[in-house]
Amino acid sequence: MTSSTPARATPFHCPYCGEEDLRPEDGAAWLCDACRRVFTVEFVGLRIPEVSR
Ligand SMILES: [Zn+2]
Repeated sequence: MTSSTPARATPFHCPYCGEEDLRPEDGAAWLCDACRRVFTVEFVGLRIPEVSR
């Protein structure tokens, strides 16, 4: 098992109700224990501002 490329981004709170009681679900999903919504958080990439000088 390697964790070099994590498929699951960790949300700090539910994006729907704002509760912080999240549990990992199958795959890369999370279950909000407050509103019972299951959702995924996808890491898209980094947006690094260009430095021009
Ligand atoms: Zn929720």
